[in-house]
Amino acid sequence: MISKHKKEHSVETALKDKTGIAMSLLRSKGDDKHNNKVVAEGHGCLLISRRPTKEFDSEQYGPCVHCRDWMLKSTLKRHQSKCIVQCVVDVSPLTKRNLILQSDILSGRLQTKASSLLQNEVFAIMTADKVTEIAQKDLLIVALGESWLRRNIDNKLKRKYYASQRMRLTARYLIAMLEEDTACDAKSLWDFLVPRKFDCLAKAAITVAMPTMEDEEELKSPSNAIKLKYDVIRLVNAKWCITLKEENDLNNGTINDCQGLMKLIQTEWPEKVTRFARMVLAQRQREVKQHIPAPDDIKLLNEHLTAELKTTPMRKELPDFLRAVKLAQTKLQVYNKRRSGEIDAVRYISLSLLT
Ligand SMILES: [Zn+2]
Ligand SMILES: [Zn+2]
Repeated sequence: MISKHKKEHSVETALKDKTGIAMSLLRSKGDDKHNNKVVAEGHGCLLISRRPTKEFDSEQYGPCVHCRDWMLKSTLKRHQSKCIVQCVVDVSPLTKRNLILQSDILSGRLQTKASSLLQNEVFAIMTADKVTEIAQKDLLIVALGESWLRRNIDNKLKRKYYASQRMRLTARYLIAMLEEDTACDAKSLWDFLVPRKFDCLAKAAITVAMPTMEDEEELKSPSNAIKLKYDVIRLVNAKWCITLKEENDLNNGTINDCQGLMKLIQTEWPEKVTRFARMVLAQRQREVKQHIPAPDDIKLLNEHLTAELKTTPMRKELPDFLRAVKLAQTKLQVYNKRRSGEIDAVRYISLSLLT
C-alpha cells in the first residue's frame, strides 16, 4: 500500500521520522484526499480522526489548512495552537471566520464557480449594470459572495442582500483600483492582491469607503476604510487557498506574494489608509464646497409629509396604498432617522397604525 504513493520519498522520510509527525501528516493528507472526493461526489463517508459522539453533520467538518486533519470547523481556531504543523510564516493568528473560509475552499465546498444557490438567489436580485457584471465575472468576488451566502444561510430573508452588497462593494473596489493603477498590468482582483499593489489597494479603499463629501468628518478618521482591511485579508486568504488546492509547485511565487501582502496589510494598513485619506480630503476640499440641508427645509419637508399623510386615505386600492407607504417610509427615514433595513422589516399593520 505504501509503495503506491506518488511521492515515495515522503513516505521514506515519514518512516525515518521518530516523532511520528511526518507519518501522521501523511495519513491526514490521504484522508483529506478521500474526504475531498466525498464532498465532490456528494456521497461516501468522511474520515475524521475524532468521531463525534452525538449527531453527526458532515457539513460542520473541514480540514486544517496546515496539517489537513479534518475536524469540527468550529474547533479550528482552538486547534491552531496544537496543530502539528506550526507555521512560521503566519504573521498573526487568523480569525475563526478566516480559518473556516480556508477550510471550505480546501474541501471544495466553497468554489470560485457560482453555485446554483448564488445564481438563483443572489445574481437574480443584483442590479444589471457594469458593477454587477464585473462582480459576477471575477473569480474571487464570486468566492466572497459564496462565503457570505453560506455564513448567513439560516437568514433566508437577508442572506441574498448581504451577499449581493458585499459582491457589489468589492466590484466597486476593483473598479477603483483599475482607475487608480497606472501600470495597467492587472485586470482581476487576483492580479491586485500582490505586495507591489499595496498602495493601490489602500488608496482604492478610501474611494469606495468614502465616496462623497457627506463623510468629511469620517474622512479625518477613516474607520470604514480601515475596516476594509478585514475584507482584503479574507480575499488574500481565499487566493492563497485556491492556489494551495491546485498543488502545483509553480505556484510558490503566488503563495509568497500572498504571505508578503498579508504581512503588509497587518502591519501597515491603518497608517497607509489614514495618509491617503488626508490627501483625498485636501483634494476634495479644494474641489467642492459642502452643502448641508438647511434646518428650515427639513422642517418644511416634515410638515409636508405630515399633511400628506393626513389627507391620503389608507385604503387597500393599490395607488392610494403605495402613496401612503411611500410617505410613511420617507417620514421614517428622513425624520425619525430609521435605517432602510429597519424600514424593510416594518409590516403592513404597523404602517396602518402609524397613519
Ligand atoms: Zn496509502
Ligand atoms: Zn492543523
